[in-house]
Amino acid sequence: MNNRNIPNIFGSMVFGDAVMKERLPKDTYGALHKTIAKGTHLELDVANVVASAMKEWAVEKGATHFTHWFQPMTGVTAEKHDSFIVPDGNGRVIMEFSGKSLVKGEPDASSFPSGGLRSTFEARGYTAWDPTSYAFIKDNTLYIPTAFCSYSGEALDKKTPLLRSMQALNRQALRILRLFGVTDANRVVSSVGPEQEYFLIDRSMYLKRPDLMYCGRTLFGSRPPKGQEMEDHYFGAIKPRVSAFMRELNEELWKLGVLSKTQHNEVAPAQHELAPIYTEANIATDHNQLIMELMKTVAAKHDLACLLHEKPFAGVNGSGKHINWSLTTDTGNNLLEPGDTPYENAQFLLFLVAVIKAVDDYQDLLRVSVASAGNDHRLGANEAPPAIVSMFLGDELTEILNSLENDTLYTCKGKTLMEIGATVLPHWQKDTTDRNRTSPFAFTGNKFEFRMLGSAFSIAGPIIVLNTIVADVLSQFADILEKSEDFRSDLSKLIKNTIKNHKRIIFNGNGYDNSWVKEAEKRGLSNLKTTPEALPAFVQPKNVEMFTRHRVFTSHEIHSRYDILLENYSKTINIEALTMIDMVNKQIVPAVLDYQRELAELILRKKAISADLTACMEENLLNKIAKLSECLQKRLEYLSEQTIAVREAKNNLDLAVAYREKVYMAMSELRMIVDDLEMLIGSKHWKIPTYAEILNSVI
Ligand code: ADP
Ligand code: MG
Repeated sequence: MNNRNIPNIFGSMVFGDAVMKERLPKDTYGALHKTIAKGTHLELDVANVVASAMKEWAVEKGATHFTHWFQPMTGVTAEKHDSFIVPDGNGRVIMEFSGKSLVKGEPDASSFPSGGLRSTFEARGYTAWDPTSYAFIKDNTLYIPTAFCSYSGEALDKKTPLLRSMQALNRQALRILRLFGVTDANRVVSSVGPEQEYFLIDRSMYLKRPDLMYCGRTLFGSRPPKGQEMEDHYFGAIKPRVSAFMRELNEELWKLGVLSKTQHNEVAPAQHELAPIYTEANIATDHNQLIMELMKTVAAKHDLACLLHEKPFAGVNGSGKHINWSLTTDTGNNLLEPGDTPYENAQFLLFLVAVIKAVDDYQDLLRVSVASAGNDHRLGANEAPPAIVSMFLGDELTEILNSLENDTLYTCKGKTLMEIGATVLPHWQKDTTDRNRTSPFAFTGNKFEFRMLGSAFSIAGPIIVLNTIVADVLSQFADILEKSEDFRSDLSKLIKNTIKNHKRIIFNGNGYDNSWVKEAEKRGLSNLKTTPEALPAFVQPKNVEMFTRHRVFTSHEIHSRYDILLENYSKTINIEALTMIDMVNKQIVPAVLDYQRELAELILRKKAISADLTACMEENLLNKIAKLSECLQKRLEYLSEQTIAVREAKNNLDLAVAYREKVYMAMSELRMIVDDLEMLIGSKHWKIPTYAEILNSVI
């Protein structure tokens, strides 16, 4: 592609604002715009006009089908394609697309997880067009972003609660803004920029590893001689094959209007990162799904495999996803940007302490939002933030909060801060170069960065939590301040008290340090180490009430989601255990037997030639392997037994706990033996690609 074409191809496959303006009658465009901006209802006659224009445009671009694209609770997207063709009654067809087909779809939804919200016999869920996210064309199909609900109106997807959480945050943030006399802003949106990490390996390696294919991660593999200790990969020169992949990926993403911006090598060998420019939370979520999907399909075209699992290789850094999050008004103000006037500063401080309180009060929910079997390998494993939620503010901002709390003077660059709302905040050194990567939740100048997500996550879950908990605290603040008779004094008191009551969540030190775990315990912060430990917090009454108060989830929806999360966890471990057993039986045992046979034959032959010939090395090796094989056998049987024993669990939570405590533990023990065997067995026999081969497979 000629690089001058980039502005032309950007968004070329998107039915975006410019196309709408060009192709829709003025009143239709106006009505649609109002729906997008204000969430108002769209009349069917308007939808008909939009659908027809959309179809014309899509057909011109080569589309033959359309699909309602949705995000069920599997974490990936789903789509069912219908073609535009309709018989014309004369044995021919015409291309048609009605407003009804645009606005509503009825996929046979019986096999999507619903956690009991929709019984299988009543399989009808429906998809409803989300006009706030533009339709686009991919693979000759018009994609219509939709929400997915049951007929009783309960959300069966990730988008519906995400949109609800954005509304909740909008409502509460506007209440606060009005108190500060802001009247021109009519909407506050949460903006998100997700950074996505991933591994790229040669496809031939991938196809030889059933564990990568079925589980997304290696279940065996001894450490390579050179891992990431030299850290020479980080920001290193990008290899030509990778760069060709990135070029095509960017091009595909740009066509779809995704603002793919930065890309670089990550710390681990074969690991890379992509970050788009931030955008509104629900669009960022759609785009992140597209990024993950296209990473896989474009990789395949280049004979590569893209691994999105959070821990594909033990002992090598796993992949995470950071969500950069801020609040912006429709007038273009970032509410997390310290301002220039005393009033703006007081407003900034109030939003800042609201987030601090929200993170402290709902640590457990943030932890739930990043809990998965895959992410359990990272959190707290010295490569990612610990499982303890804490906040990084940087030393200077922390100092400022300290002096506010204690009514002491804070001086910086000749400016002194005395009273909230009366003085301008000093322009402190913003920690924009923040490299304290150990903090799970960092303030980085004018946004927060939540760093606990695993690379394979949909970002919807964590954003839903973040938006709602902040909305909740803002609503509490608004309740207090709206009644106030002395706004400035009450505001000042509120900020001070909030700092006092929630400063325990602030930690600027090294989160990977063991001493932090003890310190956090002293501060009373929660440390939920694994998914089965973390998930029950989701259904705690305080959390259920919070979500229902803001109409983001009904209690029923929460309980069904909780069940799905538990089931997902158990299913994941079960698939891993079965894959492990299969690989041991089909690949590892034969390799071990072959090598032993070869050694035994050699020993016999040597002895047959002459009693003087020594076979020390062979005997030693055979001995070691024989002992390990005995262990292998026992641990394999033990693992098989455990996969059956867990079935006695009485409910989904017990089952998840049993998978963690019994099956997962048995898997770890089996793995140790296999990895020891790998070190001893000749590569002629060991046909599974090793870590060294996989991690260096792209040259
Ligand atoms: P780093 O790796 O240093 O964290 P990156 O440039 O990789 O930085 O990613 C920063 C991400 O934060 C980008 O997606 C960027 O668009 C996003 N971002 C920047 N400003 C904001 C903001 N106000 N709100 C949300 N996201 C933002
Ligand atoms: Mg970052």
